[in-house]
Amino acid sequence: ESKQIEIMLSMNGQRIAVDDETHAKDCPSPVLIVSNADALKTAVKNLVENAIRYSPVKTHVAVGIVADDQNIRIKVVDQGIGIPERSLSRVFERFYRVDPARSRETGGTGLGLSITKHCVQECGGTIAVWSREGEGSTFTITLPRHSKVNDVHETDVDAAAMKAAKAVEAE
Ligand code: ATP
Ligand code: MG
Repeated sequence: ESKQIEIMLSMNGQRIAVDDETHAKDCPSPVLIVSNADALKTAVKNLVENAIRYSPVKTHVAVGIVADDQNIRIKVVDQGIGIPERSLSRVFERFYRVDPARSRETGGTGLGLSITKHCVQECGGTIAVWSREGEGSTFTITLPRHSKVNDVHETDVDAAAMKAAKAVEAE
């Protein structure tokens, strides 16, 4: 599936240009995210997939990270078809789709957001949605911010994530 949509990345409002030469150190203000890598990856991937699937061509999808003292928020923002208000509280339910007829054309099973919510909770986070029909949608993953790896609850992340984070901290 090829679709003309521009994806923008930002960190605390500053746009990040990513090319082959971009490394983590080029990020304007790196933050420590200690999380189950696979779970977080699945969560973000599903949100980006939705943003693209439910947007017309030539629109923008933005993936932004906003950090304050307490939280890290990962936002996936689109300018797509949006979600009617009556459906907003249901989109995280398994198999729920706003418009089953239309969704048949776009493919999918209606499981993506329920999996996403599960993955986010596994990371110790929460997920919220803002949307308006015809304007677009914003999905926000909120994770607790940790300034030191030792502040992280071992039960919130898996052993591999802890090990990787400690290695980064030791650098
Ligand atoms: P799957 O993700 O399993 O391939 P899906 O995309 O239909 O299928 P979910 O990701 O769970 O399932 O989303 C549920 C429903 O919420 C979608 O069918 C769609 O109606 C609505 N939805 C989700 N994300 C967006 C979005 N960014 N913009 C508009 N509607 C959305
Ligand atoms: Mg989906």
